[in-house]
Amino acid sequence: MIDLHTHTDESDGTYRPAELVDEAVATGLEALAISDHDTLAGYDAAEPLARAAGLDLICGIELSTKFHGRTVHLLGYFLNGGPSAEFRGWLKELHDSRRDRNIRLIARLQAQGVDVTLEEVSTGRGSQTGRPHFARVLIDKGYASSIEHAFQQYLGEESGSAYVQRMEPELGEALKLVAAGGGLASLAHPIRLVRRGASDGLDPMIAEMRELGLPAIEAFHSDHGPAEVAQYLGYAERYGLAVTGGSDFHGANKPRIRLGTGLDGNLDIPRAVLDKLRDK
Ligand code: AMP
Ligand code: FE
Ligand code: FE
Ligand code: ZN
Repeated sequence: MIDLHTHTDESDGTYRPAELVDEAVATGLEALAISDHDTLAGYDAAEPLARAAGLDLICGIELSTKFHGRTVHLLGYFLNGGPSAEFRGWLKELHDSRRDRNIRLIARLQAQGVDVTLEEVSTGRGSQTGRPHFARVLIDKGYASSIEHAFQQYLGEESGSAYVQRMEPELGEALKLVAAGGGLASLAHPIRLVRRGASDGLDPMIAEMRELGLPAIEAFHSDHGPAEVAQYLGYAERYGLAVTGGSDFHGANKPRIRLGTGLDGNLDIPRAVLDKLRDK
């Protein structure tokens, strides 16, 4: 059993890196990739622990990118080698941009008479505080009735009165950065593209992403039923893409999803997936 898509509390998971390593060992995983949103901090913390425990830990990340105005999640693997120094430098810029955005967002909210501070929205471990955390505080303080309302009124790109942009890479740019860092990129949970209105089908999008340099697709995922898995394996075949797979484990934030076995046991990722990735 392997799992190539998991989150720690360095992004939006609830397990500390050490706890995730322990859980992977207890579950009997042959290999684990930590793929936190926009940060390698969880992997970095887990690496020595995994080594001591004899767990095959793979460096991963999940980047939020833009593709024709839509948000597309891109996984990046093996960004722990020599060439990845530049990639880490770019991540630092991304983090600085987020921090700066958060400061300006607070200032705009306060200017509008909304009583909220940076301390109140900041998450415990820090680097990935985002608008969902702002929304939670706005609800708790009675400024919004729901997450949707908080985005519509204050935080969202379309109509939010305090909206502030942050640095967000285009998919093509992110593909180049991952490749230049010696990494291998994979399109995360392609089913979400369909849900986000790609009604004319995934096929032309995958073809375009392939042209931009996409090397792999996440065919196995907790959100994918057997029909989707078969369809995405078909794309991999047709477009010469490698295959990745993982549960998207977030701990208590997605309680039905288990490490390795996915949503109520719907996941069974062949070991060969990882062997082929490493060959590539
Ligand atoms: P940030 O990374 O801080 O810019 O926040 C982005 C996150 O906000 C996304 O990952 C979504 O989870 C969430 N988000 C963005 N727009 C909306 C919306 N209209 N309603 C609810 N959540 C949203
Ligand atoms: Fe997440
Ligand atoms: Fe994702
Ligand atoms: Zn994820």
